[in-house]
Amino acid sequence: MKEETNKNGFSPGGEQELELMRKALDASITGVIITNNLLEDNPIIYCNAAFERMTGYVRNEVIGRNCRFLQKEDRRQEARQKIKDAIENGEACIVEIRNYKKNGNFFWNELYVTPIKDANGVVTHFIGIQNDISPRRKAKEDLERVQRDTDRLVMERTRELRESEEYLLSILQTVRECLIVLDAEMKVLTVNDQFLRVFKVSRAETEGTKLYDLGNGQWAIEKLQNLLENVLPSNNPVLDFEVEHDFPHIGKKLMLLNAHRVELEGQYKDHILLAIEDITDRREIERRKDDFLSIASHELKTPLTTVRGFIQLLQKTPNTQLPDQFSSALEKANTHLDRLGNLINELLNVSKIQSGNIEIYRDYFDINEAISETINAFREASKTHRITLKGSIPEQYYGDESQIVQVVKNLISNAIKYSPEAKEVIVTISMVSEFVKISVTDFGVGIRPDEQNRIFQRFYRVSENQKSFPGMGMGLYVCEQIIENHGGTIWVDSEPGKGSTFSFTLPLLINNDRK
Ligand code: ADP
Repeated sequence: MKEETNKNGFSPGGEQELELMRKALDASITGVIITNNLLEDNPIIYCNAAFERMTGYVRNEVIGRNCRFLQKEDRRQEARQKIKDAIENGEACIVEIRNYKKNGNFFWNELYVTPIKDANGVVTHFIGIQNDISPRRKAKEDLERVQRDTDRLVMERTRELRESEEYLLSILQTVRECLIVLDAEMKVLTVNDQFLRVFKVSRAETEGTKLYDLGNGQWAIEKLQNLLENVLPSNNPVLDFEVEHDFPHIGKKLMLLNAHRVELEGQYKDHILLAIEDITDRREIERRKDDFLSIASHELKTPLTTVRGFIQLLQKTPNTQLPDQFSSALEKANTHLDRLGNLINELLNVSKIQSGNIEIYRDYFDINEAISETINAFREASKTHRITLKGSIPEQYYGDESQIVQVVKNLISNAIKYSPEAKEVIVTISMVSEFVKISVTDFGVGIRPDEQNRIFQRFYRVSENQKSFPGMGMGLYVCEQIIENHGGTIWVDSEPGKGSTFSFTLPLLINNDRK
């Protein structure tokens, strides 16, 4: 009798069909095991080649064992309970469970457990389909870690930003100046509280308004407009721009304006920070101080002239009538009167410069000769230093002789004063392109780099020198003003302990009247 065959040409459940199924399972890249639920402890009765590859166990090491051997000592896993429940209830389940290969290496197993039931619904077998998902888990874990790190970083950054924003805000609110942030169209974006207090205005009427429309148009000044509109394109700040105006609510005031492009880590580049300082009172105090200086020096000059007159009268008295000690006392008094006179003249100079009353009387003069005479006068008065003159210029200079001589005098007397241990002072005259250059070099105490710019300020004296050297801090200020009035530049090169060279240049001017 011919055996019954199915449509594949095999007898159902026959040897051939089983062999084919086994081969198919072995060809799969997914691990497959079958357990027999009817036997004690549900042992494995089948595993395919992929399972062997995945776990490193061979078939005869697997058959007969309960699946739990794959978990080794790692028994306290949640997934185990899930599998246990599924098996007890005869249900399917899917878990991700930590398993261990024969060599002890751990891997993540994605396990599908499916029950097989007989005709009466009794679970006879379980099929376990397994995949090593360690690479996938690792990628997922890496991603989660990156996400966690990113979240943490974002939180930290946000906190830092909030802190620095609060920090900046607290600075903005604390500074004495009125601050305005403007956009590229000069519209007010924000102002600090100080602005509202000083100008007695509300935030609502200020923010969102164009700067030039604020108040009664106080900032609508053509020159300021040009400067401000240049800040963003050129990044050139507006520095110390003075505005004197009759402001609404607060009256006539003098304001000092400074504006810079905002640069905050590359952001807000199209914003301008405008700082406004009320300098009305400060300017008034300065003016009163200058007035005082001018009046005091004038007042001092009159009695000085009178005293000098009396002394000269006494000195003219024939020697025979005066004891010797009187002559030398009168001489000393005269020397001190000269010093006092020089100091008063310096004070007068400063106050004249301050009020813009210093005038330049230009004429052609031989600068070589003028300096040489000045040096000779020093040579006679000071025996401590040798003063050397180097170089000369071929042309006459057109300028105020007495003022230029005053500058050279101030520089030489400083050079002598601030080099008590040295013996030499060198004065150099030269032509550098169309400029006369004059330098005075000493080998004395020198000046620290941070002090070198400040010494030209009015009344500024280097603090360590205050006690050891007399002076009022006016000489270099007067020098700088005179040189600037002549269109020149003055500067110092110095090294503490080694000495200083003060130099100035003067452009050679042509007097058009001279033919
Ligand atoms: P004064 O000499 O009356 O103090 P100046 O205006 O002439 O005033 O100088 C300002 C300051 O600069 C001085 O106090 C001194 O500290 C410093 N200074 C000026 N000239 C020299 C110099 N040749 N060497 C060292 N320091 C100098």
